[in-house]
Amino acid sequence: MSDVVRTNLLQFDREGLRKYFTHLGEKPFRADQVMKWIYHQHVSDFSAMTDLGKSLRQKLTESAEITAPRPLFDQQSADGTRKWLLGTDSANAVETVYIPEPNRGTLCVSSQVGCALNCRFCSTGAQGFNRNLSSSEIIGQVWIASKALGNRTHLQRRITNVVMMGMGEPLLNFDNVVRAMNVMRDDLGFGLASKRVTLSTAGMVPMIDRLGEVADVSLAVSLHAADDALRTELVPLNRKYPIEQLLDACARYAARKPRSSITFEYTLIKDVNDHPEQARKLVKLLRRLPAKVNLIPFNPFPGTCYERPPVEAITQFQKILNLAGLVAPVRRTRGSDIDAACGQLRGQVFDRTRRSAMFRKQMHKENADAA
Ligand code: SAH
Repeated sequence: MSDVVRTNLLQFDREGLRKYFTHLGEKPFRADQVMKWIYHQHVSDFSAMTDLGKSLRQKLTESAEITAPRPLFDQQSADGTRKWLLGTDSANAVETVYIPEPNRGTLCVSSQVGCALNCRFCSTGAQGFNRNLSSSEIIGQVWIASKALGNRTHLQRRITNVVMMGMGEPLLNFDNVVRAMNVMRDDLGFGLASKRVTLSTAGMVPMIDRLGEVADVSLAVSLHAADDALRTELVPLNRKYPIEQLLDACARYAARKPRSSITFEYTLIKDVNDHPEQARKLVKLLRRLPAKVNLIPFNPFPGTCYERPPVEAITQFQKILNLAGLVAPVRRTRGSDIDAACGQLRGQVFDRTRRSAMFRKQMHKENADAA
C-alpha cells in the first residue's frame, strides 16, 4: 500500500477541475475531456480514458483518483423506488433515493451526515449530527446512482431531476452543495436544466440570499405551519428566522428569476397542522408570492409521537388551497416499505450531538407514561 494522498477529482466543478489541470501543467480543455469520462461514461480508471495521452494518463493515475462513497446496501421497493446506503467513512453512511415516475426519475440526495436542526417530525433530526458531506460525497451519490441505473445524459436519461432533500440541511453546507450542484447542471457533468435541480431548506434566511447570488436552482422551503408559534415547535430554526423573514427572503429569491415559483413543503400531521383553518391561514400567507405547495402526508418512524392525518383531512386541506388558486399536489408516498419516504432517511450517523440519546430517552419516557 502506498501512502500517497491522491486528489479526488469528484470534489471539483468544471472551473475547479480546469484549475487543477493547469496546476498539473496541462491545458484546461483536458479537464473537460476527463469530466465527460467521469460523468457521461462513469469511468473511474484513468488508463481507460483513451483520448488522453499516455503520459497524462500516467500522471493522473499517480496523483489523482475518482472515488465516490462506497455502496453498502442497495434496496429496491415494490414500487420501483431504490435506496442506497453509502458509506462515507468508517463510522458513517448516508442514504440516497431514486424515485422513478412515468415521465421522470428523481434522485433525492443527502447533504450532511445526520442533521443538526432537530425538526420534531423528522427521523434524520432524531439521529443527531456528525458532519458535512464533502462535495465529492454529494456528487458521488449522483454518480453511483447514475452508474447503477445506466443513466446516459444524451441517450437514456434515467435521472431527470435531483432534489437536495435527503439527510441534512443543504444550506448549512453551502459551498460543497453549490459545487456539487454546479456539476449536476453542467453539460459536461449530468447536464440537468437549472429548474430540475432543487434545493430544499428548513429556512436558513441569509443563505437563501447567498444562494440566489451564486446558483440558479429551484428553491423549496419546508414551511409546515402558517404561524410562528406552531412553526417554532415543529422547526426550531424558526425561532431564529421567523416566517415573515423567511417569506421575504423567498420573495427576493423569486424576484431574481422571472416566471419561477417557490415550492413550499407542508408535512401534514394529524391534529397538529391539518385543520381547515390552518389551510386558510396558509393561503393568506402565501398570497404575496409566486408559490406552489407540496403537501406531504406525515411518514411515521419508530418513536415518533405524530400521526398521519386521515385521507379526508388531507383532501379537504388540499381543496382549500386549490380553491384559492394554489397548486398543491399531495406527494405520493414512495418506497415506504424500504423506509425511503420523506423524513425516513436515517443512514448511519455517529452522533456527536447526543441528540439521538435524548430522543431515545424521551421516547422511553413517553412509552412509560403511556403504559
Ligand atoms: N433540511 C432540508 C432538506 C430535507 S427535505 C429541509 O428541511 O427542507 C425533506 C423534506 O421532508 C422536508 O420538507 C422535511 O420537512 C420533510 N419531512 C421530514 N420528516 C418528514 C416525515 N416524517 N414525514 C413527511 N415529511 C417529512
